Amino acid sequence: MTTLADPVPGGRPGEPRRAAALGADLAERGVRGIVLAYVDTAGITRVKTVPPARLEAAVTWGVGMSPVFDTFLADDSVVTTDVLGSPDGDLRLYPDLDRLTVLAAQPGWAWAPVDRVGQDGAPHPGCSRTFLRRTVARAAERYGLSFRAAVEIEWAVGLDSAPPGEFVPAAPGPAYGAVRQVALSDFAADLLAALDAQGVDVDQVHPEYAAGQFEVSVGALDPVAAADRSVLVRQTIRAVAARHGLRVSFAPAVLAGSVGNGGHLHLSCRRGGRNLHAGGEGRYGMTAEAESFLAGVLARLPALTAVTAPSPASYLRLRPSRWAGVFTSWGRETREAALRVVTGTAGHEEQSANLEVKPVDLAANPYLALGCVVAAGLDGLAAGRPLPGEITGNPARYGPDDAAALGVRRLPESLPEAVAEFRADRVLRDALGPVLADAVTAVRQGEAAAAEGLDDAGVAAAYRWAY
Ligand code: GLU
Ligand code: MG
Repeated sequence: MTTLADPVPGGRPGEPRRAAALGADLAERGVRGIVLAYVDTAGITRVKTVPPARLEAAVTWGVGMSPVFDTFLADDSVVTTDVLGSPDGDLRLYPDLDRLTVLAAQPGWAWAPVDRVGQDGAPHPGCSRTFLRRTVARAAERYGLSFRAAVEIEWAVGLDSAPPGEFVPAAPGPAYGAVRQVALSDFAADLLAALDAQGVDVDQVHPEYAAGQFEVSVGALDPVAAADRSVLVRQTIRAVAARHGLRVSFAPAVLAGSVGNGGHLHLSCRRGGRNLHAGGEGRYGMTAEAESFLAGVLARLPALTAVTAPSPASYLRLRPSRWAGVFTSWGRETREAALRVVTGTAGHEEQSANLEVKPVDLAANPYLALGCVVAAGLDGLAAGRPLPGEITGNPARYGPDDAAALGVRRLPESLPEAVAEFRADRVLRDALGPVLADAVTAVRQGEAAAAEGLDDAGVAAAYRWAY
């Protein structure tokens, strides 16, 4: 069913006229092309581009693209489901004018995320952005809830001059070290300037743990805008790096055997502007609803892993004692738990209390990841699911019996294990709908088959520059 928020052939009321004016304005500002971006099931951002003079046509009739990308793998080979993966048919990409952004680090270019719609005007059941929009809209209708979300971005900066395929860190220096901050000072300053020019409010940027690694955290928005923003920020990081002779990897594991790149999700539930994670009667100020939301996410983490850690390389990152959160537990500010409860500083809880979901990387499609986490949380909230006890410290220290008694489980250690959990999870499958759920299964199985026989170094190399 089409809703008011969905694009329609002929354009939503007033939009073609608005697009014509925006297109003319962009052209006057020297913009030559507009990048229309979406993220496929495998987590790859796919794009088409149009000149500004075509913006009006794009919001009126969409821009054609094959639906086959729904079952593309990260190496561009194709798998199939009952309904996806065929060379037949066409989808229309409709840019979201509210998110149209002039790209500061790509002179001559602007950018917009798209929703994908069938030629007949029906929303495409494989469109992850539409899925997230609907999941959030349902939460508002049924429970009066809204959300604030942000995606943390970690990446490794390498030299573009490195031998083909290899990663050579562009800067030396220890974790969080001033040495690395100084070595990449110009790059980081240009990145901050570009994000600022694009209206992205940055919370912080810092050198991270692994070789050449950095992290940026940005302000929270509604989940669809947060997912859009994570795509835009990565486009910007790549572009700034290219202008400095640098190459960036967002892969879950740039090198085997080392700390990886996470894409932690931050999420808070709100009602009527009130943060349900603060000022409540529950633990650390959570309301009963926030506790049940957490419990819902906690209960589904093994199955969620197929969505939030979708690459064979994700399982090189998801190792204990690397702050990737590989145990089904929660704790206040506990960086080894899959769910970290962030309360905020005394006096600032209402603004900053939220839930951090850690076993998420940047191979994950952010629309699917946020949509599935919200769906899992809502299932817990609706059922009034009780939140088990907090686990502090590193859950890796427990032996199997203690872990079982505390309900602490290791998350799937491989993609096939995660897919098995996902396939058995009715809540996530129902939330996604059969077309998207089957696409997730088929793409993950294809990805696992593609990596079969590779050792850890081979897996890291295969996905190093894919995302
Ligand atoms: N790099 C870690 C990961 O793989 C996260 C480090 C942090 O907590 O920021 O998720
Ligand atoms: Mg970090």
